[in-house]
Amino acid sequence: MEVIHTKAALNNFVSQLKYKGNKIALVPTMGALHAGHISLVDQAKQFADVVICSIFVNPTQFTDTKDLEKYPRPLEHDLDMLSASGCEAVFMPSVQEMYPKPEAWHVDLGPAEFVLEGQFRKGHFQGVTQIVKKLFDCVMPDVALFGQKDFQQVLMIKNMVELFTMPIEIVTCPIIRETDGLAMSSRNMHLSTEDRKHALVLSEALLFVAERFSEDSIGALIEQAKDFFKHQVGVELDYFTISNITTLMPAESKTEGDLVALVAAKVGATRLIDNIILTGKN
Ligand code: AMP
Repeated sequence: MEVIHTKAALNNFVSQLKYKGNKIALVPTMGALHAGHISLVDQAKQFADVVICSIFVNPTQFTDTKDLEKYPRPLEHDLDMLSASGCEAVFMPSVQEMYPKPEAWHVDLGPAEFVLEGQFRKGHFQGVTQIVKKLFDCVMPDVALFGQKDFQQVLMIKNMVELFTMPIEIVTCPIIRETDGLAMSSRNMHLSTEDRKHALVLSEALLFVAERFSEDSIGALIEQAKDFFKHQVGVELDYFTISNITTLMPAESKTEGDLVALVAAKVGATRLIDNIILTGKN
């Protein structure tokens, strides 16, 4: 596996592959890899000849400097996982390489930028799309794979790709969960033993809503889901919503297009997100 640190070296690597007619898939990550990330690499192989994974903890998408500082960076473990996964190259640039000077450009991502995660983490999706655009410009992938785990993020990236008419296929991959239902996340490693038990309330509330979906009204489902959190010590709910799959606006009835339930909560000091598609697919 090639380990590449600069845009120039990456450009060289990619140009040769493209010259030989290879189709390239990109899997962008922030590292601290787990089976969820590797599932993206595995699926990428079905879409391309060569898989490039990036590891970059992007400072511009963090709204909390403490969160950025404590973001896990187990580099050796990540490289071992990637080389075992059959990924051909990993791009691991420095912050200076990606942001040689301050940048203040802005992408119009539509109204869905400002709800849910966008409301709790102001400017987050500008940072996400900024780095993803830079990665797309360097790698020039034919296809890029993202996890449904970050539901709103995929939507924002699709909106950016459409806005700039980028010739890149965006593939959304299913959420990989621990056997007890907790969605895998790099942040799970911050959970204490107690937090880890408490964190199950997110997936349990989502599953409850999916199972009761045909029985109850949207309002009743949300109330019952919120009750899960009222009775759970050590967990502070940021939001639990049932929203339209493309606008992310809260749904009032089941006839408002395809729907997704989304949740965010602080479990101890760790903020977790999760979701489940209720109707349709993304
Ligand atoms: P991150 O390193 O957290 O930025 O995630 C990199 C990519 O992996 C994103 O597209 C995430 O949505 C995806 N991802 C993270 N956790 C999971 C999971 N549990 N299952 C599937 N994909 C995931």
